[in-house]
Amino acid sequence: MSTAILSALAEEQEGLLGLLRQPQAVKRAGREFWQGELHGRKVVLALSRIGKVAAATTATTLIEAFGVHRVVFTGVAGGLAAAVKVGDVVVASEFVQHDMDASPIFPRYQIPLYQKDRFSCDPDLSARLMSAALEGGYRLHQGLIVSGDQFVSAAQEAQRLREELGLAGYAPLAVEMEGAAVAQVCHDYGIPFAAMRTISDRADDSAHVDFPKFVREVASRYALSIIDGLMQRVPAH
Ligand code: SAH
Repeated sequence: MSTAILSALAEEQEGLLGLLRQPQAVKRAGREFWQGELHGRKVVLALSRIGKVAAATTATTLIEAFGVHRVVFTGVAGGLAAAVKVGDVVVASEFVQHDMDASPIFPRYQIPLYQKDRFSCDPDLSARLMSAALEGGYRLHQGLIVSGDQFVSAAQEAQRLREELGLAGYAPLAVEMEGAAVAQVCHDYGIPFAAMRTISDRADDSAHVDFPKFVREVASRYALSIIDGLMQRVPAH
């Protein structure tokens, strides 16, 4: 069994690369994939790149070309729910694309031809991720994360997302730009998927200031320790 570990940012991947045993770099689709072992488990490390299309291409390549059996995503996100603060960790239970809108032909947020608007994460893999994060002592949440091709950096925009998603019955914890795309690809292939995001900003008017500082100073350490804990919790074979 091999596990794909997708990082959103190079800073997050650096720490994991340092732990990788027998690292081997392979180029594909203009991307670099690192094969090797973490805690005796076969892994492939990759950068998702930013946005839904780029992340979907990376996920598809991991499955088609590298034959991975499960996909785990680590990254940062903007907090949307009031209780979700900078420095907290959110483990996704499901994903919605907040910018999908083929209404009035299809209901708002529904992915045309799928007849669904949300993709669930694998409960077992997510439970292992939760357990690894709990061990690290982080302030932890589990629930809906929404994705779209937009860096949300205005309080008004974050409020609009909360209100409009609320009308459809959704209470999103956080917003980012890739997870829902990877969840959809994993759904298509029947591959278990789990995701964790460290909150780097509040998706408000100071998001562009908080984001780079947080990524540099904190997010990479969180991702490293949680993924390190997770790999000790997944079966080796
Ligand atoms: N110039 C930046 C761009 C990062 S885009 C850089 O490369 O350093 C922001 C990334 O962090 C995306 O991968 C996204 O998934 C996540 N993210 C963090 N905060 C976000 C927010 N408020 N809105 C949307 N995505 C966010």
